Formats: sequence, C-alpha cells, structure tokens
Amino acid sequence: MTTQTAQSTATRDGDPDTTGDEVITLDQSTGDELARYRAAGPEQVGAAVQVARTAAGPWWDLGFDGRAVRLRAWRREIARGGEDLAALIHAENGKSLEDGRAEVLSVLGHLTFVLDNVERVLGRREIPAPAAMPHQRAWVEHLPYGVVGVIGPWNFPLGTPGAIVIHALAAGNAVILKPSPITPGVGVWLARSWRRAVPDLPGAFQTVVGFAATGRHLTTGVDKVAFTGSVRSGRAVAADCAARLTPALLELGGNDAVVVAQDADLDSAAAHITWGALQNAGLGCISLEVAYVVDAVHDTLVEKIAAHAGRVHAGSGDDDLIGPVPLPAQIPVIRHHVADALRRGATAVVGRPADGGTDDRYVQPTILVDVPPDALAATEETFGPVLAIVRVRDTEEAITRINASPYGLGSAVFSRDRGEDIARRLRVGMTSVNDALAFSQNAGLPFGGRGHSGHGRKHGDEGLLEFVYPHAITVHTGPTPTPTTTFARPPGAMARALAAARDRLDADDQTERN
Ligand code: NAD
Repeated sequence: MTTQTAQSTATRDGDPDTTGDEVITLDQSTGDELARYRAAGPEQVGAAVQVARTAAGPWWDLGFDGRAVRLRAWRREIARGGEDLAALIHAENGKSLEDGRAEVLSVLGHLTFVLDNVERVLGRREIPAPAAMPHQRAWVEHLPYGVVGVIGPWNFPLGTPGAIVIHALAAGNAVILKPSPITPGVGVWLARSWRRAVPDLPGAFQTVVGFAATGRHLTTGVDKVAFTGSVRSGRAVAADCAARLTPALLELGGNDAVVVAQDADLDSAAAHITWGALQNAGLGCISLEVAYVVDAVHDTLVEKIAAHAGRVHAGSGDDDLIGPVPLPAQIPVIRHHVADALRRGATAVVGRPADGGTDDRYVQPTILVDVPPDALAATEETFGPVLAIVRVRDTEEAITRINASPYGLGSAVFSRDRGEDIARRLRVGMTSVNDALAFSQNAGLPFGGRGHSGHGRKHGDEGLLEFVYPHAITVHTGPTPTPTTTFARPPGAMARALAAARDRLDADDQTERN
C-alpha cells in the first residue's frame, strides 16, 4: 500500500542514524501523500543558524516594547489563519479539526501570557545592598542565550513546540524550529506567518525540516536546545548537548497516573479520567495512563469509565472523537503493552485489542482492569488510547507507587476532602485535582517533569526564565567605611565582623526561645 511506503521513511524517526533527502507527509484521514519537503542537511542548518545569529542582536535591541509590537502582529496573523492551521494539523496528525483548533487557541493563549508578563518576569530587578556594602547599588538583568533550537514532536505539532518558540522569542532569542518529520507543515506554516507579521526581522524565527539527523545538526550550532520527544531521543540529545556544554530543556515522556480516593465524586472522576486517557487517541505526554483506584470504589468507577469509553471511537469521520495513530512504529508498542497486561491476568472491559480491524492505524480504546502494578501498561509509557486500572488498598499505596516511578510528569487526584493533601505528596511536575490535564490549559502554570520525564520547564514565568541567564551587576557608588574588596581592609576587620555576627545570631536564638 502506498500509504505504508510513504510513511516508512518516518517510522524510523528517533533513530539517530536515520537519513533521507526528502520528508514525505501524509493526509492521515485518507492515507494519501500530502506534501514533500527537502530535508535540511548540515549546510542548510548551518546557514539558518547564521541568519539567526545576525537577527538575534537586532531582535534583542528592540527591547520589551519593540518585541511586543511584533509578537502582537504575529498573534493577529496566527488568529486570522487559525482555520487553515487547524486544517493542516488535522491533515498531518489525524486529530479532529476541533482538536486542531484547540492547539491554535493554546498558542494564542501563550502569546497573550508572554505579552502580559515578560517584562515583569525578565525586567531589571533591584537587589538591596547588604549592610556591610552600603556603597553598592545592585540589580539583576536577564540576557537571552542568543540562538535557541527547538525540536518538536508530532503529537501536539503546534501547541507543544509553539509555546516554547513563543517563550524563547519573548525572552529575546532568535529561534529555529525543527518540527517532527510527521508534521513539518505546521512548522513551515508558523515560519511563513512570522515572515508576514515581522518583515523587518524575518530571521528571528525560522523552521528547518528533516529527520533526527537535521535535529542533531541543529543541536551542534545553537546556544540552547529545547527538545520535546521520547526518552530515548532525549538521552541522545542530552549526550550531544553535554559534549558542547549546551544547556538543554528536555520535555520527555510520561506515564501519568491518577489517584481515586474513596470520597471521590465518581461520576465526575469517570468523565474526566476517560477524557484524560483517551483524548488525542492517548497520544499525549500527559495522557492518563494508569489509574490507581481504591478497592472500596473500584468496581463502581470501572463501570462508569467503561460506559464513557465505550462511546469513544477512533476514525476520521465527523463523529469520531479520536483519530488514527500517525506513527506506525507506535502501534506494536501499544499492542505489546495490552498483550502483556492480559497475559498477566488483566481483563479488557472495553476494547478488543487483538482485533486490528481493516486499517490498524485506527487503534480503538482499551480499558484494562485488574492490571498487575508491574505490567508494562502500568509502568511504561504506552502512548495510545489505553488506560490501565490498578486496584489499590488505599491512597497511601497509590502515592507510594507513583513516587517510585522513574517518570514524573503530570498526574490527577480525585477526592472530595483530601485532594490537595494527596496532590502535594506526589513527586511530579503537575497535578490536577478533581480534573484531568487542566494544568496544561493554564498558560501561567509551569509545565515539565522530573526523572525520565526530563528537566527544565516550559509555560508560565518559569518558561520565560528557561530561555535567559541572569546577569548580576553591582556598582560601586561611593566611599565605604570598611573596604572589603581591597587590601586596604583593616587588620582584624573580619574577626570583629565574625564575632559580631555570632553575637547577633545568639541574641536572635535567645529571643526566639523566650
Ligand atoms: P521522537 O523522540 O521520536 O522525536 C521528537 C523530535 O526529535 C523529532 O523532531 C525528531 O526528528 C527529533 N529527534 C529524534 N532524535 C533526535 C536526535 N538524536 N537529535 C536531535 N533531534 C532528534 O518523539 P516523537 O515520537 O515525535 O514524540 C512522542 C514523544 O514525545 C512521546 O514520548 C511523548 O511523551 C513526548 N512528548 C513530551 C512532551 C512534554 O512536554 N514532556 C510533549 C509532547 C510529547
């Protein structure tokens, strides 16, 4: 079938050895070829980095106000072209048009967030002088790295790399995006819209298309890398960056868990958990993959989740809530995780995983119960429309299992009275209480993980701070009674200062004890 031939070039994506001169994209609804792009080699990537370097200085020199004018113009351009962009996401990725529109709205939200907040977060901050240095005036400024390389995945082809590009630009960097070879058109569209909106500095944001090899060329030339993708590729990127001491933001995979306590509102929990697990065909780094449900409410909740999930069908029709899995290499992984759970005694209350149907790109939802906690579906990223439900004694067991995971990206907790307490004990980057994935819809909240889920943050104030380094400045403004930074320091000055500090701390302790 031509579909598989065309896509076979993309299935090997993530393998650092993959090379190819051409990236061929498919319309995921029809399987027909959509477009062809020349894959950028080292020369093209090097040229893009040079263009970015030339633009980086003038972009920074514009200051917050000058950059804001241009970011506003870009926001208008994206909003006007939003329907085209959503259609392109639908075609390249296969998700519904409505989900494509949600990605457009998400980047518009991130643009608004940076426009409203960048100066507050990155503007000059005065620092009070210490008592011993009254003659110094000090402050912190934030300098951009220069050129940032953003490497993106295909599952949220606009929302995921788009938010990072926006933060890096707002922080004063020039940016080059290398989108996934499954969804390069979205990246190309973004760069074109930038050139229309910001004709005086087109080089401040560019897109280069290609496979992993193109991404590797990019990591070698830039001042900071922001990578989003699998744990396996993340390790390779981190190793490349380590060799050059290039800082890297790593947004990697997850195995997000949900805790359901005895006092949860089960109707609401079932609706949110089903959506959190199956939206976007479960192809989200923060998709809920494993539900730890306390024994007392387990059976009732399973019934409710099964009722919701039974109404979700994968297809490309107007009524289909989820689309295909556009990465063929992912399909055997999903099947393997489901088969492993079934072999270990789990049951599928929704889904007939062995039945691939006529087109196996459409993976139908599977809800697994009585999943042993050490099954792959419960411990590893399945990245598909599958939820593994694990019965637990109590919420303590759920917390212990989540905190023992090598991943630590998002999570959810359902409990009427103890939701916040449970949430605060989870060692993860993000938690929604009595909701699913809600943290991802607030542009002000930082997004990222720990352990195998990566490090660094996008979104929120932290997402802006990710793309700058602090420059601390202190200015000698006048004479000082006790010089501390020349050899004119009086003999015994430090001994007297140390004794005074000790007496002061002793007095403070004494006051606290009384
Ligand atoms: P992937 O790792 O296969 O590819 C991601 C991108 O990295 C692609 O553009 C690819 O060409 C490039 N790449 C691969 N190897 C590279 C290398 N050695 N050097 C430079 N670039 C390289 O991932 P994918 O299949 O596109 O995306 C799915 C994965 O991304 C899932 O694991 C998902 O959980 C994760 N993800 C994480 C987040 C997050 O914010 N944490 C968001 C979305 C997706």
